[in-house]
Amino acid sequence: MNESQAKTGDSATNRDSDVSKSGDKAKNIGSDAFKALRDKQEASISPKFLKPYDPASTEERIYAMWEKSGCFNPDKCIEAGATKKDAKPFTIIMPPTNANGSLHAGHGLVMSIEDMMTRYNRMRGRKTLWLPGLDHAGFETQVVYEKKLEKEGRTRFEIEPKKLYEEIMDFTMTNSSNIKSQIRKMGASCDWSREKFTLDQDIVKTVYSTFKRLEDDKLLYRGKRIVSWCPRHQTSFSDLEIKDEERIEEFYYLKYGPFVIGTTRPETKFGDKYVVMHPDDKRYAKYKDGQKIDLEWINGPITATIVKDEAIDMAFGTGVMTITPWHDPVDFAIAERHGLDKEQIIDEHGKLLPIAGDFAGMHIKKARQAIIEKLMTKGLVDKIDPKYKHVVRTCYKCGTIVEPQIKSQWFIRMKPLAEKALGKIKTGEVKYIPDHYEKITTYWLENIVDWNISRQIVWGIPIPAKLCNKCDKGFVDLEDKLKTCDSCGSDLIRDGDTFDTWFSSGQWPFATLGYPDNKDFKDFYPTDVMETAGEIIFFWVSRMIMLGLYVTGQVPFRTVYLHGLVLDAKGQKMSKSKFNVINPLDLTAKFGTDAFRMGLMVGNTPGTSLALSEDKISTYKKFANKLWNIARFVYASCSGTELIQDFKAYSKADEILRNERHTLMTDITSDMENFRFYLAGEKLYHYAWHQFADVILEQSKAILANGTPEEIASRKQLLLHTFEKILRALHPFMPFITEEIWSEMPLKGKRMLMIEKWPIL
Ligand SMILES: [Zn+2]
Ligand SMILES: [Zn+2]
Repeated sequence: MNESQAKTGDSATNRDSDVSKSGDKAKNIGSDAFKALRDKQEASISPKFLKPYDPASTEERIYAMWEKSGCFNPDKCIEAGATKKDAKPFTIIMPPTNANGSLHAGHGLVMSIEDMMTRYNRMRGRKTLWLPGLDHAGFETQVVYEKKLEKEGRTRFEIEPKKLYEEIMDFTMTNSSNIKSQIRKMGASCDWSREKFTLDQDIVKTVYSTFKRLEDDKLLYRGKRIVSWCPRHQTSFSDLEIKDEERIEEFYYLKYGPFVIGTTRPETKFGDKYVVMHPDDKRYAKYKDGQKIDLEWINGPITATIVKDEAIDMAFGTGVMTITPWHDPVDFAIAERHGLDKEQIIDEHGKLLPIAGDFAGMHIKKARQAIIEKLMTKGLVDKIDPKYKHVVRTCYKCGTIVEPQIKSQWFIRMKPLAEKALGKIKTGEVKYIPDHYEKITTYWLENIVDWNISRQIVWGIPIPAKLCNKCDKGFVDLEDKLKTCDSCGSDLIRDGDTFDTWFSSGQWPFATLGYPDNKDFKDFYPTDVMETAGEIIFFWVSRMIMLGLYVTGQVPFRTVYLHGLVLDAKGQKMSKSKFNVINPLDLTAKFGTDAFRMGLMVGNTPGTSLALSEDKISTYKKFANKLWNIARFVYASCSGTELIQDFKAYSKADEILRNERHTLMTDITSDMENFRFYLAGEKLYHYAWHQFADVILEQSKAILANGTPEEIASRKQLLLHTFEKILRALHPFMPFITEEIWSEMPLKGKRMLMIEKWPIL
């Protein structure tokens, strides 16, 4: 903050310090005359300007006025004459907010940026729709609810699924009304009449028909595949929900017949009856593929089979390994290639199964040491490397090591979908801001794997399918009609799983707009901007592009605008355990919503993390006060004067100032059009404070007191016009205070500022 801001910032409560500390200028000729004049004129303006600006009492009233006008709805803007019927649409679909907690700082940023884009485009005359929504947020919400149950001494595993679903629904509904009122507090001008929830019937219907269509197009299959399973959360995950963690553990070299095999996981070794080596490994040339050897193992003698496979790294360990296809993806692939048996060793809770003999029922955490001890007494441990560094895969939510398990799940073949998306990204039909996200998206799409969309949780959209309890085949059954398996004739049971929440939210843009028949879909799809966190570029953005293209044949949005993380003032990630979580509503209560929004938007370049500091927000609280004082000055000085739209009789000096302003507005408009909002906001701030208040208003005092009638008339028009443009241009950033000041603007036939025009010049 520079010195002039620091000095003038506090002046809101001090009537004598006026708009800016004028220093020497206060002694200018005409100053006393001006004061006398001003006192007289101030008596004629709204008394609210004589008091400091009060965001608390203003914001609620203004929001209620906007909402009552209906003009968050583009159709109402047309009725009100603010938007032309054939205007080009502008659409943003709000990322559905998780309905499981309160608004956090990241949401504050989403609401600020998207509302700013929405208001700007509405003021540009576009048929503007910002469609709000809430997300049931499947697994995320269930985790929140489980914590609540834990506190009550209950667990979800003891509650009947239907009852649990109802409980979580109640919880979500209570939260969602809370969340919605918080979104309103941020000033969000979204069309509540079009609000959607991810479990709404029409959304579910769309999701189901996509599921069916994937099956019809042979892009869906049910497969026994290895999945990542969290033993604590009792669900499988996609690769995106896994966090890799480096650990230092013991690495065991075990004697396996004539071989020495290496492993970090002796607890998986019970079923190991295949020993694999590279076909080119000369050390083992005398062993033939398929050859049987008898050997002593953990629970007694076994017969092992030699398998030769090129996947073995000859340089790793001894170049020989045994495989556990049920619990390791690499081993699974080897077993698939050679048609080997796959046996489950560890159950879904992380306990050893009967195949482990004496160790059956033991948790794998305890079993490891016990098994090593037994192997030692049998003389089967060759050596132990105590400090082996390797990567383990953990649940992103609870940090538990995920256990690969073979499960029957629904998978989507992603390659054909990814290829379509890549084509559109390459031709520039989807643009990324900042553009490095295009590269990482392309890389991800080029290396895509099939997507496991089954989740073993109740809180979500049930998968409309039946399963054969004998042959394990799955059948998509939207109408709930199928009774028997068409391949073995056995009874079918309902699939108890739900969809991965991203499978439904991946269809959000076209589902919310009522694909395929709704008028909104025809009017507003493809949407213009998808503004969201860079963090969910794969989870969500890429899947929306793939599913949007697949279902509608068109990209779901033309521009992807990604913001960074909101960090605390010290630049640290906010987390409950660090006690540094900033609640946006505390800040809006303290500084006003406009100041909060400016603090988040000015200088915040897309894709980079933002440190949220109270100092920065308090600067904009001072700026709000400044605007308020400017209003008092302008309205008092110009009292009795109307703003004349096509005023031409400017003095020479005023003409120069007007042209300067034109240049600035053109520049800012170009920033807004090119997604440089962070610059536009800053330029407006500086212009309003350091040019309009500090320079133009200061020199106006003498002109208004001592100028010729022509000079006075010219100056009054310049003040009104310039202030009017400042308010219009600032409105998308600071909607509340600008709307409040606007209500006193002496302009014939004006509308609410929200549906006025953006100042091009
Ligand atoms: Zn977990
Ligand atoms: Zn069957």
